[in-house]
Amino acid sequence: MTEVGWPLPHSWLLTLTLPGVLPAVAGLAGLLVGSFLNTVIHRLPRTLERDWRAQCAELAGDAAPSNEAAPSSAPRYDLVAPRSHCPACQTPIRALHLIPVLGWLWLRGRCAACGATISPRYPLIELASGLAFVAVALRFGPTVECAAALVVTGFLIALAVIDFDTHYLPDQLTLPLLWLGLAASLAGDVRNAVVGAIVGYLVLWSVYQAFKLATGKEGMGYGDFKLLAALGAWLGPAALLPIVLASSVAGAVIGLVLIFFFGRAREQPLAFGPYLAAAGWLVMMAGDALPGGLLLGTPIDPWSPDPPRSLDSPWSPDP
Ligand SMILES: [Zn+2]
Repeated sequence: MTEVGWPLPHSWLLTLTLPGVLPAVAGLAGLLVGSFLNTVIHRLPRTLERDWRAQCAELAGDAAPSNEAAPSSAPRYDLVAPRSHCPACQTPIRALHLIPVLGWLWLRGRCAACGATISPRYPLIELASGLAFVAVALRFGPTVECAAALVVTGFLIALAVIDFDTHYLPDQLTLPLLWLGLAASLAGDVRNAVVGAIVGYLVLWSVYQAFKLATGKEGMGYGDFKLLAALGAWLGPAALLPIVLASSVAGAVIGLVLIFFFGRAREQPLAFGPYLAAAGWLVMMAGDALPGGLLLGTPIDPWSPDPPRSLDSPWSPDP
């Protein structure tokens, strides 16, 4: 394995190849990542909104001291500060109660200080993240691809929930996911990744423009194009058709069910991001590998005397 110069300590690799260790480690990591994703999902849209308000005020020349959104006087608000606190009584949450899922169960879903209800969404997202990480670990095994697929999984969960909440897919997540996919392809198949990214963007962009010309309405947003471009970069162009078909069909079916059985207004737009993200994740799990991305199926197996497989691109001549 000397050719694959990934800086993981050797002893770690040995432990991860023992049966059951990788899924267990991935599951625990998934719970912790889910806890962080809760913070991202809650705070990123609010941080962006604050920035936009500040910029709008600046553009309008509205720097009056009465302006509550004056950025210099506002307390710091980002992914790090302030500490996690109860939205009702502002009491900081004790470290013990921040333990994923268990903290919420221990508190029976109520703030320890004021008794306000804590949404079950927080432990559910942690649990979903933990389970998704276990599934990725079982699917990819102790490979570099597994690490890549875990990164993609974390991004997709955050994007899906933020789009569900706000109908907005932030560039702060879609663009890093796209660049990471292209960067990862340097160890695999760059051409596949670049074609996947370009086609992914242009497919939805064309549908959007055609729909706009035909109906005068906007059927989706630029965030959707960027998300599909990112998925194309990670999974290659061959993954795009199944992703677009599955997400469109699922979106249409669920949209119709909501309209006919739950009285949802026909005009009310449906966020497309969650369907794209879910379809992308399923295609990643069902596919052979990450064709746009990393060393295809190269196991991190320190016992194996074989050299890493599949470093060649499909266009290079076979021996
Ligand atoms: Zn409270």
